[in-house]
Amino acid sequence: MVSIGIDLGGTKIEIIALAPDGSVLLRRRSATPKADYHGTLAAVATLVRDAEGELGTQGTVGIGTPGSISRATGTLRGSNSACLNGMPIKADLEALLGRPVRIANDANCFALSEASDGAGAGAEVVFGAILGTGVGGGMVVRGALLTGPNAIAGEWGHNPLPWPKDDERPGFPCFGGHRGCIETFLSGPGIERDHLHAHGEALTAQQIAARAAIGEAACDATLRRYEERLARALAHVVNIVDPDVIVLGGGMSNVERLYASVPALWGPWIFSDRVDTRLLRHHHGDSSGVRGAAWLGAAR
Ligand SMILES: [Zn+2]
Repeated sequence: MVSIGIDLGGTKIEIIALAPDGSVLLRRRSATPKADYHGTLAAVATLVRDAEGELGTQGTVGIGTPGSISRATGTLRGSNSACLNGMPIKADLEALLGRPVRIANDANCFALSEASDGAGAGAEVVFGAILGTGVGGGMVVRGALLTGPNAIAGEWGHNPLPWPKDDERPGFPCFGGHRGCIETFLSGPGIERDHLHAHGEALTAQQIAARAAIGEAACDATLRRYEERLARALAHVVNIVDPDVIVLGGGMSNVERLYASVPALWGPWIFSDRVDTRLLRHHHGDSSGVRGAAWLGAAR
């Protein structure tokens, strides 16, 4: 059976077709129709039908998109594509495509992709943590994505940074109305703001990482604060979920030293005499969202 995944974003729609062994049979993109709900559904259906025509077979369909489907109402909420919010996108796509469709957000698709045939393949419990423009996460247990009655499993980014120091309190305001959320410290914009505050220098997260790598003192200090905060934030996850593997994704996951420094720092915060959880870099990179969507449809 072919597994078709769709990454439905605000500017582009990407489709991938995977064989059961994870190899890519087909992949392409098209632009997302602007502010047009029915146009967006039609574009998704066209991509699926064209792909199936080309492959000569029907597949399962999974969709990765920002936001979540409310269990109570069956409608999408929290999407950055406003025209999709409040709409029964799952039911409408199922009617259009004539088959069940599964939908999850990008962080959940990332976690499922990495747990299925990525960095966390073969592990029993995988926590996928996104450190990008925002901080999100998803959890896969024995190959199945954990969703939960509120469809928020794994959303650690809007918990407070644990064990805050005096100069981390009350923390910066977050869009949800709270202050000091993990996301305000560990997102890309979070490290940029921290560096600006501490050293008066406006640099991108990429520049901070690159300058730290060549021993520039201020950038190294900023990255050390980041590593120590990430260690505390992930220790909370380990204390609750105790995953076998934590896979990092998003722009900050490309900072190579995190994979050695953070496990060296998280011990004192984890309630165990030893820590065997592995912290790993993503395997599929930018493809994880659309690959995870495909595995979602295959219900692995
Ligand atoms: Zn928040």
